[in-house]
Amino acid sequence: MAELNDKLERSIVYVKGVGPKRAELFAKVGVSSVYDLLQYCPRDYVDLTSPDELKDLPSETDEPKALRGRIVKKLPPARIRKGLTICKAVFTDDTDDLTITLYNQEYLFANLKEGESYVLYGRLTGNFMRREMNSPMIFDGGSPDLIIPVYPLTEGLSQNIIRKAVKSALDLISGEVTEIMPVHVRDRLSLCSLYTAWENIHFPKNMLSAFEARRRLIFDELLIHSLAVAYRRLNENSRSNYIMTPIKMTDFTSALPFSLTGAQKKALGDCVMGMCGTERMNRLIQGDVGSGKTVVAAGAAWFAAKNGYQSCVMAPTEILAAQHYNTFRTLLEPLGMRVCLLTGSLTPKKKRTVQQALAEGEYDVAVGTHALFSDNTGFSNLALVITDEQHRFGVEQRAALSAKGRNPHRIVMSATPIPRTLALIFYGDLDISVIDELPGGRKPIETYAVSGRMRERAYGFVKKQLDEGHQGYIVCPAVDESELDIKDATSYFEELRSGEFSDYTLGLLHGRMSAADKEKVMDGFKSGEIQLLVATTVIEVGVDVPNATIMLIENADRFGLSQLHQLRGRVGRGGAQSYCVLVTENTSPDSIKRMKTISSTNDGFKIAEEDLKLRGPGDFFGTHQHGLPAFKIADLTRDVMLLETAQKTSKRIIDDDPSLSRPENAVLYELVTRLIEKGSEMN
Ligand code: ADP
Ligand code: MG
Repeated sequence: MAELNDKLERSIVYVKGVGPKRAELFAKVGVSSVYDLLQYCPRDYVDLTSPDELKDLPSETDEPKALRGRIVKKLPPARIRKGLTICKAVFTDDTDDLTITLYNQEYLFANLKEGESYVLYGRLTGNFMRREMNSPMIFDGGSPDLIIPVYPLTEGLSQNIIRKAVKSALDLISGEVTEIMPVHVRDRLSLCSLYTAWENIHFPKNMLSAFEARRRLIFDELLIHSLAVAYRRLNENSRSNYIMTPIKMTDFTSALPFSLTGAQKKALGDCVMGMCGTERMNRLIQGDVGSGKTVVAAGAAWFAAKNGYQSCVMAPTEILAAQHYNTFRTLLEPLGMRVCLLTGSLTPKKKRTVQQALAEGEYDVAVGTHALFSDNTGFSNLALVITDEQHRFGVEQRAALSAKGRNPHRIVMSATPIPRTLALIFYGDLDISVIDELPGGRKPIETYAVSGRMRERAYGFVKKQLDEGHQGYIVCPAVDESELDIKDATSYFEELRSGEFSDYTLGLLHGRMSAADKEKVMDGFKSGEIQLLVATTVIEVGVDVPNATIMLIENADRFGLSQLHQLRGRVGRGGAQSYCVLVTENTSPDSIKRMKTISSTNDGFKIAEEDLKLRGPGDFFGTHQHGLPAFKIADLTRDVMLLETAQKTSKRIIDDDPSLSRPENAVLYELVTRLIEKGSEMN
């Protein structure tokens, strides 16, 4: 970062008070340069503008309290057993005494000095005989600061060490920092200067200045990320290698057993036009479960095949791949196209045969799972890559797939209605088609939340649906869930089969079954032989059995709203009224609010936004999600608004100066290219 300030580039070994040994500790928390150190933000602050006095406090508190005082006496550390050492000290704030207990923190304890003043921050846990504080945060009390930063620590690194190091680092650069942000941006958004931000994030005069500082640093981070996404897209090779020729789509559409909805027609049109243009297409098709994305993708594949090109369809699970395979075959084979399935569970021999045929161009469409990525899979002329539920794939897998063919067109199908802002983070700056219309004749799913006491009645309701000739699902959390209280799929299945539902045919589906077993069960369910499917969330994506009209979800509060919405989308896919019953024992206000939300609307976007608000993006995308960039300071749970501003600003900057070559953008350019080089931290 020569342009920024060469002192910032220096190793922190040069910071006063940080020798090589401490530098190693700092490295553990990702801090190696002066710049890193200044960017190492407190995760919280202790506000001492009005410290408490012990005499005014009860002997136990729910909230942490800040106390200013002295250590009067250190007791000898007691080694209770291997791996547990307890250190105690007596502290006074001159209004009363308190015993501090530290567990396995001998290094911290060793540095405390009798008679010195300190600030404690923690919950009081004693009784009326004796005041106590367990594992408080302990700060040097000598400094006059009223607001004390609390940094994330690692063993051997204390709050005081970090605080002192940051102070020396600020002295070292002594205000000489080139602004990275163009003046017009700073002015328009009233952002403080970078140096002020660093001063105030570490040593705020009041909470407002800490807030302003954080806002500035978060904005920097989000802007650089947004710029990098935009810059990379502009400067990567986006010329189309497969410019297709328009043909009439009626040969495809008139062969369908239904007519496309307006939204489907529009999305298909977007795809077809996209592949005829001079730029490579990169499109997200976003539509709620059941909106009919698959047929749009099939239309695009048909169009590509008519132009003489191959397509591939990537699904996140074998079940879904098998299902897409069937759908694509049903739709495309009558039109003379050849479709193959390629998944990990094929025998090696079969796989080789399919791969060879694919390489020789015998197939127009290949549907599969990650096996599609294996190095052995070549295509003769792959021009379109369709990915279903892309956010379930890891970053490397996506990259591997993009490397197939020569920069093929891309269609990503997502049933998770991702707010636009996050879509940009996730998918980069791709074009988006939204399918916001359900195919006709569908009735919205009726959803009810009940407590476990109502389970019997809920079972009765399920039976009624089965008796009417419909099918149903009972969903419970994953099989390897070990916590008590959680309905385990296998044992629950046994219980239902031999008890409540002994008069019905039941099937069991969970993630740890072999692909062959899963397929057998799915076939049984599709054919109607299995009436009630007990399953974990493996059914979440894409499974399509229109005769299923009831879903009962156990421990519903364990799922995110978007996930519940996806799950219940497995019913309501035919003409009959469908139902979803959510069973939960969780009566916390948060849980009740979520159950209300999901019961009161079928609008996926609304649910997604609510989910984002309630749980943040990590949960929003499920716990196993990959591909979210690792922000150091920003937190997408709170900072979505700022992200929007950053994205707008980024667009303005890059529209003005696509190569970021103007002098005012020089430092930004430097930071953006660095981030792109690091790559892995971007999506
Ligand atoms: P999703 O968007 O969830 O992937 P699918 O593509 O699986 O939805 O479609 C759901 C169901 O709706 C399928 O059974 C499909 O055949 C049917 N379908 C799709 N489009 C239409 C339409 N325009 N009219 C009637 N049924 C349709
Ligand atoms: Mg689908």
